[in-house]
Amino acid sequence: MERDKFLAAIKPRMPEKRYIHTIGVMETALHLSGKYGEDPTAAETAAILHDIAKYADEDWMRTIVKEKGLDSRLVDWGSEILHGPIGAWIAETEFNIKNEDILNAIRFHTTGRAGMSKLEKIIYIADMIEPNRKFVGVEELREAAHENLDKAMKACISHSIRFLVDTEQPIYPVSIECFNDVISRNA
Ligand code: GDP
Ligand code: FE
Ligand code: FE
Ligand code: FE
Repeated sequence: MERDKFLAAIKPRMPEKRYIHTIGVMETALHLSGKYGEDPTAAETAAILHDIAKYADEDWMRTIVKEKGLDSRLVDWGSEILHGPIGAWIAETEFNIKNEDILNAIRFHTTGRAGMSKLEKIIYIADMIEPNRKFVGVEELREAAHENLDKAMKACISHSIRFLVDTEQPIYPVSIECFNDVISRNA
């Protein structure tokens, strides 16, 4: 089964804690897929692979960005921002995933983006609310995810932007584009 193959592939690339997080994202994404009518296999694949590049070497990731012509804005950012786009690149080149929706769900799982698909929203939200996440306010995000996917997306990206401002971290432009897009829709 694909699931077992992907799980076996990610396990040696991350600490136990990150693997447990990934299982949580997978289960949450499967739950949201059932609730909102997404293909469970696509959700499962994107969830399992979403953090595959989380522990990849930062300089190696920057080299890939340059050599493979990924978004040039990425080179000025650290692994927090790089691991999504590089994860998508690994999924495509090493695991032969050609489904662009799955690749985008991995690519944008940290920042979101303007015009996200249902699958992208499910992975973004599942990453934030999976059962092992313990930050203040996570319960409200879980409740929103139970009610409405766009409402949850708004709550999640707002929470993330607020956190970055509060902790004085630079905000990647694509995260801002996501926020602007989401708050201009009614949810
Ligand atoms: P994780 O990989 O499961 O830990 O979760 P994410 O991939 O969603 O996020 C990784 C980290 O990136 C978190 O610490 C976020 O706060 C951070 N992050 C998300 N968006 C931005 C951004 O626009 N700028 C910066 N500097 N960090 C961000
Ligand atoms: Fe991540
Ligand atoms: Fe996230
Ligand atoms: Fe994650």
